[in-house]
Amino acid sequence: MTAGGFDGVERRGLMFVLSSPSGAGKTTLSRMLLEREPGLKMSVSATTRAMRPGEVEGRDYFFVDKPKFEKMVDQGELLEWATVFDNLYGTPRAPVEAALSAGQDVLFDIDWQGTQQLHQKASVDVVRVFILPPSAADLEKRLHTRAQDSDEVIRGRMSRATHELSHWAEYDYIVVNQNVDDAFAEVQSILKAERLKRERRTGLTEFVRKLQRQLEK
Ligand code: 5GP
Repeated sequence: MTAGGFDGVERRGLMFVLSSPSGAGKTTLSRMLLEREPGLKMSVSATTRAMRPGEVEGRDYFFVDKPKFEKMVDQGELLEWATVFDNLYGTPRAPVEAALSAGQDVLFDIDWQGTQQLHQKASVDVVRVFILPPSAADLEKRLHTRAQDSDEVIRGRMSRATHELSHWAEYDYIVVNQNVDDAFAEVQSILKAERLKRERRTGLTEFVRKLQRQLEK
């Protein structure tokens, strides 16, 4: 699991998790990150929920039925999985392992249940970021503007938001998404700083030894 650092120092790939209640802007922030951070690859989850208008199979999710999902669980193909809004969601293991070993960092848009499981399995490699909406009114407005879900589904998501919010303290970083550009800058700073953490930079000893040899000459 080594990634070539931008400065030539090898490092381990990291697993960058963004969680938030639906409608806090996490999907927009994920897209912005993927556009501007070429070393980052999205983990595409499997889900049993119905495809929404505009979603693409294999890009947004792998849409599967319940028996297929259960088979994936039984065969150990999922790194983590959880029930969210009565549907099953899970992270396919193989693409994540392939990306990490190809030296890429992986971005996850998963809920608190999945984040806990990922952290239990790979704590040092997991960076957990929780996105908060600035207010309940803002959250509701975004859910309506998205116009993908019925009023009933939106009410369900609002009530679930209260529950999801209670998990904020299980995350390493909290970003309040008052303004999407500011929130993006904060999330990007977290990623950049985490990439520089000494423990991940497996090539540092060698790099510093080389520097020392050069200095001794
Ligand atoms: P949505 O249906 O709006 O796309 O996603 C609903 C919730 O499921 C979001 O909070 C999202 O983060 C979460 N989710 C999506 N994929 C996964 C996954 O693979 N595992 C887990 N644990 N949660 C997921």
